[in-house]
Amino acid sequence: MEEEMKAMLDQIESLKHSLPNNTAIADLQRHAERIAGLVKCAPTKRSKVKDMSAEVVDSNPYSRLMALQRMGIVHNYERIRDFSVAIVGIGGVGSVAAEMLTRCGIGRLLLYDYDTVELANMNRLFFRPDQVGMTKTDAAVQTLKDINPDVVLESYSLNITTVKGFEVFMESLTNKNFHGSGVDLVLSCVDNYEARMVVNQACNELKQTWMESGVSEDAVSGHIQLLIPGETACFACAPPLVVASGVDERTLKREGVCAASLPTTMGVVAGLLVQNALKFLLNFGNVSPYLGYNALKDYFPTMEMRPNPQCSNLACLERQKEYDLAKPAREAAAKAKMEAESSSMIEYPVHIDNEWNISVVDDNEPDISTSSKSTVFIPDGLVHELPSADGFQKPSFFEESSSIVDDLDDLKKQLEALNAE
Ligand SMILES: [Zn+2]
Repeated sequence: MEEEMKAMLDQIESLKHSLPNNTAIADLQRHAERIAGLVKCAPTKRSKVKDMSAEVVDSNPYSRLMALQRMGIVHNYERIRDFSVAIVGIGGVGSVAAEMLTRCGIGRLLLYDYDTVELANMNRLFFRPDQVGMTKTDAAVQTLKDINPDVVLESYSLNITTVKGFEVFMESLTNKNFHGSGVDLVLSCVDNYEARMVVNQACNELKQTWMESGVSEDAVSGHIQLLIPGETACFACAPPLVVASGVDERTLKREGVCAASLPTTMGVVAGLLVQNALKFLLNFGNVSPYLGYNALKDYFPTMEMRPNPQCSNLACLERQKEYDLAKPAREAAAKAKMEAESSSMIEYPVHIDNEWNISVVDDNEPDISTSSKSTVFIPDGLVHELPSADGFQKPSFFEESSSIVDDLDDLKKQLEALNAE
């Protein structure tokens, strides 16, 4: 397009020479120059990438992520492309979580929200003023597909708390048209009790693992929580905000009351949420069962929450029963795994390349640096800074001690001879 514009400008230029002082041609030239400027400023679009590569070049969008494998953090990073994550609520936390997962190269994102972008959302990250009036899910898809066209994005502009919305929500979570599998993880980023209870109901019914997140009404605390139906507490077993601050969540979201929000707290909570989602999906580190964030004291409380046998949610009680019944099988599998691991345990070097010849010395072994200098390996071109004669020097006293004894004997003999005289 840029070349076409250049050819057009050249034609106008030659026309100007054959018809000088023609105002129509001058106008045309100005117009063409303005368009040429816009063409030049047009953003570059990223094309799709077939395979994730670890190649370290500026044009590779995944080199820094694939480096996690080389660093030994993640066993197989490319697996991220097989996963589907559903994000419910594309607000201050959900939109940032969606962007993080998109940049990480997640396989598929399902986005749910019924709201539209407003100027009142601009204190948070992600949405832009030119997106005001768009549905949050459509605006998110618009931004995310440009950031990473490899991610499959699904936009659901609906309210999951309505009967119809709940049906579509359940259907989309069970749909197996992406690599033959459904959703791997649901992230709840909603801002009200009712929507959380709906996500809880859906996940308990579908035996779907999910993570809950929330930021307090005063914008200075938040939390994330892992919920595995039957294994951990469900949202109805112990609502997190009630546990954390003693506030009844039903009283939140009061009509006419404007809740405060900060991009900082929401960014922190979104970061903690996606960090734990990545650990869960790619199987590294420990996934926090519950992690709180108190911004005023920079305090991060953690705790584990067991399911409540008196939970009001029937699906939760069913999942708890199934989990208890599967206990012997689970224990047997864990034992077999442990035995298999211990029998096949071979110690590999942490780093295959050892450019600097660094090695670990057993504390019980004698220190070779003082006992036998000649065995210390020094790479070519390096020399000891200190003279090599820093070994333990026997005081000359010990070498001379035998002659002292001889001298003493002599002295004794002389004394005896004197006494005898
Ligand atoms: Zn429960």
